[in-house]
Amino acid sequence: MVAEYGLVGKGISHSFSGKFFNEKFLREKIDASYNLFDLSDISLFPSLLEDHPLLKGLNVTSPYKREIIPFLDILSPEAKELNAVNVIQFEKIPGGSRRLIGHNTDARGFLQTLGPLECFYKLKKPKALILGTGGAATAVAYALKKSGGSFRFVSRNPVGESMISYESLNSLIPTSDIIINATPLGMYPDENKCPEFDYSKLCPRHLCYDLIYNPEETLFMKYAKERGAMVKNGLEMLINQAMLSWEIWSEDK
Ligand code: NAP
Repeated sequence: MVAEYGLVGKGISHSFSGKFFNEKFLREKIDASYNLFDLSDISLFPSLLEDHPLLKGLNVTSPYKREIIPFLDILSPEAKELNAVNVIQFEKIPGGSRRLIGHNTDARGFLQTLGPLECFYKLKKPKALILGTGGAATAVAYALKKSGGSFRFVSRNPVGESMISYESLNSLIPTSDIIINATPLGMYPDENKCPEFDYSKLCPRHLCYDLIYNPEETLFMKYAKERGAMVKNGLEMLINQAMLSWEIWSEDK
């Protein structure tokens, strides 16, 4: 019997995961398939489970990372803290039933990419500015906190001390080390967009990290590069997350 894995989300026809996992299965001669489950509403999730009894693991993406939680039996500590799930583990229970465990690999996937960055090593306590306040921004903040860094969120509607506006962002750039684009600005098919701030404040000391991986070079990265800053896109984080999902699903084999 072919084991089944897949991705739950909306508007996911261009997803990276399907190609990544199906190529992996082919290359490593794993008898499994990875399918895209494009749900118009999360209330369709229980019938998806009924229709696919051979499911061994799922990824979850926008807009269901939070909405999926009531359908799960238990959350990992990271998923609980971030209040978002991007991996579902199907754990077998003696007696033939299974329980659904929600995990979040966004933070670990991001953190793993920072280690090998020489500039990150040099910075004992890097100061980060995280553009956006959604699920990805929260996961990045969690990861930075774990690694001893400090951060401020940049929001169009800042609330509380941890958030600043795009206007105040400009004055903080000279004393910051990393600027992370955790907004969807610049993502295919809106490649001509980017977060709005004064890019002339950037210099070669800065790392400008875009969580977007399509296109390979976003406008945010292009403008940062023009100022001599180091740049990185979200592809490595994405690959790390996919591999972490596989590790989680492999625990049950
Ligand atoms: P999201 O929840 O849709 O949006 C993130 C935040 O961006 C929002 O909370 C909002 O913050 C800000 N934002 C949204 N639209 C904006 C606009 N038009 N102008 C300025 N700011 C805007 O997205 P997400 O799920 O957190 O993901 C964010 C990005 O990270 C996406 O591009 C996603 O593809 C990428 N991502 C990559 C990986 C990876 O592995 N590489 C993993 C997860 C996500 P405010 O309202 O506070 O301004």
